[in-house]
Amino acid sequence: MFSESKQDQSEYAFMLSKTMCAAANAVTSAAAYEGPSPQELAARIGTYDILPDEGIGLEKTLSRVEDVILPNMLRPFSVQYAAHLHSPALLESISAELLLSTFNQSMDSWDQAPAATETERATVRCLCKLFGYGAQADGSFTSGGSQSNLTALLLARDAFCAKRLGRAVKKEGLPPNFEKLRLYTSEISHFSMQKSAHILGLGYDAVVPVPVTAAQKMDTAALEALIARDVAAGNLPFCIVATVGTTDFGSIDDVHALYALSQKYGLWLHADAAYGSALVLSQKYKARMGDVSLCDSITVDFHKLFLLSISCSCMLVKDGAHFAPLELHADYLNRTEDEEDGYTNLVEKSIQTTRRFDALKVWMAFQSLGKNGYARIVDSAIENAHYVYSIFSSQKEFECGPEPELSSVVFRLSPFFCGTMEPGRVDRVNKMVRRTLLHQKGIVIGQTVYKGSTFLKLTLLNPRLTKENLDELCKTILCVGTSARNA
Ligand SMILES: *Cc1c(COP(=O)(O)O)cnc(C)c1O
Repeated sequence: MFSESKQDQSEYAFMLSKTMCAAANAVTSAAAYEGPSPQELAARIGTYDILPDEGIGLEKTLSRVEDVILPNMLRPFSVQYAAHLHSPALLESISAELLLSTFNQSMDSWDQAPAATETERATVRCLCKLFGYGAQADGSFTSGGSQSNLTALLLARDAFCAKRLGRAVKKEGLPPNFEKLRLYTSEISHFSMQKSAHILGLGYDAVVPVPVTAAQKMDTAALEALIARDVAAGNLPFCIVATVGTTDFGSIDDVHALYALSQKYGLWLHADAAYGSALVLSQKYKARMGDVSLCDSITVDFHKLFLLSISCSCMLVKDGAHFAPLELHADYLNRTEDEEDGYTNLVEKSIQTTRRFDALKVWMAFQSLGKNGYARIVDSAIENAHYVYSIFSSQKEFECGPEPELSSVVFRLSPFFCGTMEPGRVDRVNKMVRRTLLHQKGIVIGQTVYKGSTFLKLTLLNPRLTKENLDELCKTILCVGTSARNA
């Protein structure tokens, strides 16, 4: 906390109250988005000189934020927002954000984050237990699901190279036959698989896309055939990634079947549970997740169905010893002599150095809501998805994707509704509906491709959404669709 004029508490309190007012005044609108086009928005924001010679001070700057930025923010807390895995932030989380940025702790070394380090450690222990891991387990907070996946795949790659090829990747780099390494994940898994493979020096070609069943789950028979084919060809399978909640459909791979295959072929099993991990807090729906404690590592994303603010994720490992590839000592930061005396430097479990105290959000939200509070949030999201699915699947104006297991519903205005079987035209009507909702109705929904056609998507994370809101939304979609069809 630093202000140029004064550095005292009253200045801080004043800044807080000003900012609070600006924020509280701006969270009132019902629309998810006010509607300006990218060009209009750029022009409005461009009215202000970002770097004047003489600064104008915080108060004036804040009023500019209120003028051009806040009104045009996307409002994920609006009941008209259902586009992405992007949630309204719980109050506990916003409160935590204020504290963690005020104190600006850095998680790399204990002396930069004493209470924060111990809080993250306690939170990680709680999470390991929650997901069914034993005493050997460990974990680390990351910037999001993508970084959690990258970290897990790095550990998987290094463990395989050490054990099977006698290669210490950390020191010696990739083995000579690195082009043969193979990772298996469903063809609809998150694109962080390919991105991670690139960053890890393996390339996209190392990621073998496994076909999915009609329910959009990895086809385990196809997976085994692909692994066997690669083994026969002299390739080096090292990892299977189970998606526990695909980004589009919320479909959940069969963790038990993948575990059996990972055991049979000696592969690391990672659960990308960025979306589905919140099921762990629902007594009613937890079983849908499968037993993720069978996996060697788990990605948990808190800024999705757990409703914590961005960014907040955790990567858990069944055996904490696997973090060793990330350990490196620097004289100026994480001395072994301190560690021998009980000071934990969390930098040794992260690909980041300076890192946010995001664990505070989990620590606060878990206590404030409790298991039951979270169960109500998760259950309502799932039940809303079932409700919308039942509407869409009972009307011939709509066509549905697979039945939801989580809180996403993929659908489109049907060829019947569009009055044409021509695929290009049906795609255009659906695309036009999404754009019109965004710019003319303040409603933001998702869009994806399903079986080669454009589909729309509702990702329902907001616990405030009621059945009435959903009825209204479906009506609006039909209404906008009618104009698009006739355009
Ligand atoms: C969202 C998502 C990710 C990426 O998480 P970020 O927090 O956006 O980095 C990874 N995997 C799946 C299945 C996701 O849905």
